[in-house]
Amino acid sequence: MRVLLVEDDSSISEPLRDALERDGAEVQLLGEGAAAPEAALGVDVVLLDLGLPDMDGTEVCRRIRSISDVPVIVISARQEEGERVLLLEIGADDYLVKPFGVRELSARIRAVLRRSSESLMPECISAGALEVDLRSHRAAIEGRELELTPKEFDLLVLLAGEPGRVHARQDILETVWDPHWYGPTKTLDVHVASLRRKLGDPKWIETVRGVGYRFAAQR
Ligand code: CA
Repeated sequence: MRVLLVEDDSSISEPLRDALERDGAEVQLLGEGAAAPEAALGVDVVLLDLGLPDMDGTEVCRRIRSISDVPVIVISARQEEGERVLLLEIGADDYLVKPFGVRELSARIRAVLRRSSESLMPECISAGALEVDLRSHRAAIEGRELELTPKEFDLLVLLAGEPGRVHARQDILETVWDPHWYGPTKTLDVHVASLRRKLGDPKWIETVRGVGYRFAAQR
């Protein structure tokens, strides 16, 4: 994952960069806003401070939006509601008030990346005998329609959308339930068990011990 961090205060940007790099990200650091829009073209997500020496972060965000759909997360000490509304209006994807923990930032980054990849999702998913129609919210196996709850449907879409990929428990909870999920994870097991039952064969969804779940790549 490539991250552009636009922040002039090195006491914030450097520890943040180090933490993100420990998480496996490739971080490009910019201390001013003018060069940010062009730099944003080459990254997966932009972290944007508002108080920059050369131009206001809201203007930087506008300029990025005029040329790119890259997810933008504003990180700022400003927390007036008007500011937040303005940012959402100019196209920022999320807003984090300083000070914040790196773990929260990482969760927000994952959430915006997922939302942006979901917007590219197909209208239908088919995996072996399974067909999922995202427009009509229907799923069927060999023509037999599955009666799924909304959460079971979302869970199925997430897993079946990428057969063979392991989805971590926390990522599933943040995607299907709540972007800021910090609660117990038992809910997930209950839903997976129910979904397996409805799919008619537990082998569709594999448990990856200590990590999460994986949809069977070939059926
Ligand atoms: Ca600043």
